[in-house]
Amino acid sequence: MSEPVNTFEAQQQGRPTGPLVRGYEVIIGFETHAQLSTASKIFSRASTAFGAEPNTQACAVDLALPGTLPVMNKGAVERAIKLGLALGSHIAPRSVFARKNYFYPDLPKGYQISQFEIPVVQGGAVSFFLGEEKKTVRLVRAHLEEDAGKSLHEDFIGQSGIDLNRAGTPLLEIVTEPDMRSTAEAVAYAKELHKIVTWIGICDGNMQEGSFRCDANVSVRKPGDKLGTRREIKNLNSFKFMQQAIDYEIRWQIEEIEDDRKIEQATVLFNADTGETRAMRAKEDSADYRYFPDPDLPPLVIAAEWIERVRGEMPELPRTMAERYVSAHGLSEYDAAQLTQSTALARYFDESVKAGATPKLASNWITGEIARRLNAQEIGIEAAPVSAQQLGQLVKRIADGTLPNNAARQVFDTLWTGEGSDVDAIIEAKDLKPMSDTGALDAILDEVIAKNQKNVDEYRAGKEKALNGLVGQVMKASGGKANPAQVTDLLKAKLG
Ligand code: ADP
Ligand code: MG
Repeated sequence: MSEPVNTFEAQQQGRPTGPLVRGYEVIIGFETHAQLSTASKIFSRASTAFGAEPNTQACAVDLALPGTLPVMNKGAVERAIKLGLALGSHIAPRSVFARKNYFYPDLPKGYQISQFEIPVVQGGAVSFFLGEEKKTVRLVRAHLEEDAGKSLHEDFIGQSGIDLNRAGTPLLEIVTEPDMRSTAEAVAYAKELHKIVTWIGICDGNMQEGSFRCDANVSVRKPGDKLGTRREIKNLNSFKFMQQAIDYEIRWQIEEIEDDRKIEQATVLFNADTGETRAMRAKEDSADYRYFPDPDLPPLVIAAEWIERVRGEMPELPRTMAERYVSAHGLSEYDAAQLTQSTALARYFDESVKAGATPKLASNWITGEIARRLNAQEIGIEAAPVSAQQLGQLVKRIADGTLPNNAARQVFDTLWTGEGSDVDAIIEAKDLKPMSDTGALDAILDEVIAKNQKNVDEYRAGKEKALNGLVGQVMKASGGKANPAQVTDLLKAKLG
């Protein structure tokens, strides 16, 4: 079979140059294996549950016993369709399973069933914010495949064990164009993809258990040059390691090139203990795998009705939700993206608005003060001590002028620490109502004017700034309960 034409070079024409590292541009493309959340395997009825005793969840098909045949799990296909719908991809009406041939002890068939020339999901894109800048990473494809088993080295001396529980676990391999231009962008992409697959419920996203593993393809080049030779860092299963591994790899490649050595295409592993990447094997080409259509499986046919049925079962997507926040609530695209980081966060915002909050103010509190406190306490919004309803009440009292900034902060503190639970009761108990009694305010004004004759004279002599001092004095005397705008107006009137 002939090598597919490498289109990566052409795809990168006209893309803007990324930030340079020691004069080099960084190019990154991702291959992510998302384990699909089906109860049984992709081609057999064995369970996919994590953590069982070795080889208790491997049936005759997974063991590759002679005479067994694979049968497609529709649930896996449905999850692939969901990803395609979420990312605006083309869902192939007819795709083909292929055998990827290689030998390894944890692969009893001698081949892995995957998709090669015609994958089920084609094209699409993932968009996200990197800081305040919007980025879009294009997908090449996403294809269905089965996972291999696992070799166990730790419990054996001079031997290795084989656990085939994982053999046949359904995976969706999601491949991007080499569109990313920095480590930060790559990590932000991975986080966004992780958010999407968990949001639409096709993958549990548990990175420690290997449900979401990323391979980062990294190369460097002088701006304007052709794409450099890439090395592929395998199986990154935490965002922290991902960042360390890619940073190290970039520095290593630049060092090699600067020392006049050529980068060899290779598959490398990241060692979390040393923080280094190390070549595992020279990278094989797809020709080495002798791919061919699997004669045991018919082509995967997806009718339009099936796609429509799945579309009907999809939750509202973060992207659609963010668009709604922009159009219905007038939020900025950036704020909307922040609020749709998780379903829980979006629900919190929705509920605070339902409880009466002005959307823009609620958004400011959630992405500002609340986010800061959650981060500091390392908890998620689910565990926030202030409920969405309470935030809604608080924001309502800010918007209707009952609570000036500092008083709002006091109420929020009281809610957060649990010393109070009802916004209006706290306002009452702490006597935080603004001084609407103009009689009391009047007395304070007269006293401040009497005691600050110098400021009064200066103001009357045309020094506008002198008024600020007087306003400050009144605010202080009122215990912060006067409304500064109202005080300014009253003072001006009195001083004429
Ligand atoms: P495989 O690694 O399985 O052979 P591909 O050749 O399709 O698969 O490429 C895999 C990944 O490598 C893709 O995500 C692609 O974006 C990325 N890639 C290709 N060329 C480069 C390059 N020069 N630098 C960085 N990434 C690259
Ligand atoms: Mg690869």
